[in-house]
Amino acid sequence: PNTELWRTKARARERLVAFTRKRLKEQLMKRGNPDREVAIAEEVLNSETLTIGFARRFAPYKRADLILKDIERLEKILTNERHPAQIIFAGKAHPHDNMGKELIKKLVQTASKESIRRHMVFLEDYDMEIARHMVQGADVWLNTPRRFMEASGTSGMKAVANGGLHLSVLDGWWDEGY
Ligand SMILES: *Cc1c(COP(=O)(O)O)cnc(C)c1O
Repeated sequence: PNTELWRTKARARERLVAFTRKRLKEQLMKRGNPDREVAIAEEVLNSETLTIGFARRFAPYKRADLILKDIERLEKILTNERHPAQIIFAGKAHPHDNMGKELIKKLVQTASKESIRRHMVFLEDYDMEIARHMVQGADVWLNTPRRFMEASGTSGMKAVANGGLHLSVLDGWWDEGY
């Protein structure tokens, strides 16, 4: 039944929010942030808010920063009073991939802006534990590769098996699956 599916999704989202706060807290502590900065991790996100997920290796063609292109518009979407949204990024760049590292820096900087820090989180060290929580809990799976560059985009397949909606470029598996 729809209500049961929705309840299950809501529970998965709650778990994702709790998990994200915990990981963010650990991340901020590891980086030597002062206690008052670390405490903010407990106030980020809301378990009842529409949650967008983006988790990838940060190869530049995957364009993790595409959604930051019009930051004022993104800010408006995230902080809309009646229908807010939130976005969780997770990623990892290859140690020799400087563009990937720049992307991560840009996301971390944007996520620390006072106006959106409660609506946007970047998790480092993308691993299978993060992936599991994200594909289960995210309502919308964001996928914005440069077209014809994506071979597959497997995380989207994982999201679809967990009832996620897709906001995607027609490329990789989505081109065939859609
Ligand atoms: C699924 C997964 C990937 C691959 O995701 P793509 O969408 O193909 O980039 C990479 N790392 C982890 C930890 C995963 O769970």
